[in-house]
Amino acid sequence: MTDQVRTRIAPSPTGPPHVGTAYMALFNLAFARRHEGRMILRIEDTDQLRSTPESEEAILQALSWLGVEWDEGPDCGGDYGPYRQSERTALYQAEVQRLIGQGHAYLCFCSAERLEQLRKEQMANKETPRYDGHCLSLTPEEVEERKNRGDPYVVRLKVPDEGECRFTDELRGEISIQWSQIDHQIIQKSDGFPTYHLANVVDDHLMKISHVIRGEEWISSTPKHILLYEYLGWNAPVFTHLPLLRNPDKSKLSKRKNPTSVTYYQDAGFLPEAMLNYLGMMGYTLPDQREIFSLNEFCETFEIRRVSLGGPIFDVDKLKWVNGRYLRENLTPEEVLQRLVEWKGGPSFLSQVIPLALPRLETFSDFFPLSQFLLNENPLYPFDELVGKQEPREVARLLKIAEWELEKVDSWDRNSLANVFQNLAETECKKLKELLTPFFVCITGSKVSLPLFDGIALLGADLTRSRIRKALQFLAENDAGISKKGLKSLEKEYRQSYGKRID
Ligand code: GLU
Repeated sequence: MTDQVRTRIAPSPTGPPHVGTAYMALFNLAFARRHEGRMILRIEDTDQLRSTPESEEAILQALSWLGVEWDEGPDCGGDYGPYRQSERTALYQAEVQRLIGQGHAYLCFCSAERLEQLRKEQMANKETPRYDGHCLSLTPEEVEERKNRGDPYVVRLKVPDEGECRFTDELRGEISIQWSQIDHQIIQKSDGFPTYHLANVVDDHLMKISHVIRGEEWISSTPKHILLYEYLGWNAPVFTHLPLLRNPDKSKLSKRKNPTSVTYYQDAGFLPEAMLNYLGMMGYTLPDQREIFSLNEFCETFEIRRVSLGGPIFDVDKLKWVNGRYLRENLTPEEVLQRLVEWKGGPSFLSQVIPLALPRLETFSDFFPLSQFLLNENPLYPFDELVGKQEPREVARLLKIAEWELEKVDSWDRNSLANVFQNLAETECKKLKELLTPFFVCITGSKVSLPLFDGIALLGADLTRSRIRKALQFLAENDAGISKKGLKSLEKEYRQSYGKRID
């Protein structure tokens, strides 16, 4: 163990870059900088089905845009790589073998049906669903025989039945959790890949992470991690669980209420330094109570114990206020102009709009009204225009289905988007033109505009999704929303006609 402070962020590349990840990254970076340590970026892509290279790329891009810098990672290397878990499978398998050999982990051959039955019984008895240790009673010969027969199996962690796990959290003090609440965690899946828990512990050890600073949703997993450190004969790092960001109504930050993707804020014209500043105010105040501060000022004075546990509210209006102050107080008008040009006010963006606008131009004065939907955060439109000739509830239904379909689009280009809407029209037995009207209105703010699919492609995934969600909200405010029950049956109908949802 070195004495150097080493922190890490370990995002899973399974979706757009989340503001919660940026928040964790900032606090890990500040802690590392303050203690002259290093921050590591590790990609936790053990979920083979949901992880994508596009998402990894977007996470790295979003953190770089914010100005969060890491010292080691998949892009820049380091002494403890590879920094992508999918490239470290052999390391995890070796530790799993060691755990099995020492009797701390065991093979489990139980079928999905048996596990489901067990879960149902436990739920009916109001017990915490937990594996009952059935396969622990297999003899070594039986295990060998079943393995040789090719029966599928997972590897589970042996967890004590009694007593409790105690550990210290830097912010919360001592935490104790009964072992009876902790499941015999699967540490290796039937395809030989590790689960998050095992890979996370092995990597934190091998990458010499001294301090784990992560979100409070991981507290209940920490006993499993502590057990793994103990079984593997390693020292556990210091744990700090930061409070989760919340919506203004105190619920957990979710994209239903607020955009949660960092790229949304980039596309909507926020300044990265203002965004980082605002994230630094989440559950934290500088010793001198300053509200506007640079990343360096934040890092230099950072004291992790000053983090307060009351759920910090991520309020877009407050973020806008901070952003406005940055524009007026921290940048000269020349710098504002330059940043505006870099955003969407210059040739690199506008040159993509010209070919779309040209067929509709008579004079230059036509250009900005036609393109303004690409430059504003949200267009405004009347209710009647949004619903057109359709039933308002039918419009809500279509918007919701489109929202789910758009989640599935990997490469956000004109053709993929055209396919989504054509497929939607076919499945719904509607004329494309009729189907598109509400989308035209909620995305461009008008019934006449630039070609829709090109427009959506240029607008980007985050702003598009947010406009569809805004339209759904608008419909709900006008008694044309989708009820909870309606949503359930719509999800069912969606599964049948369009396949599984990803979220
Ligand atoms: N991969 C986990 C995540 O996506 C990391 C949790 C941790 O920091 O241990 O949040």
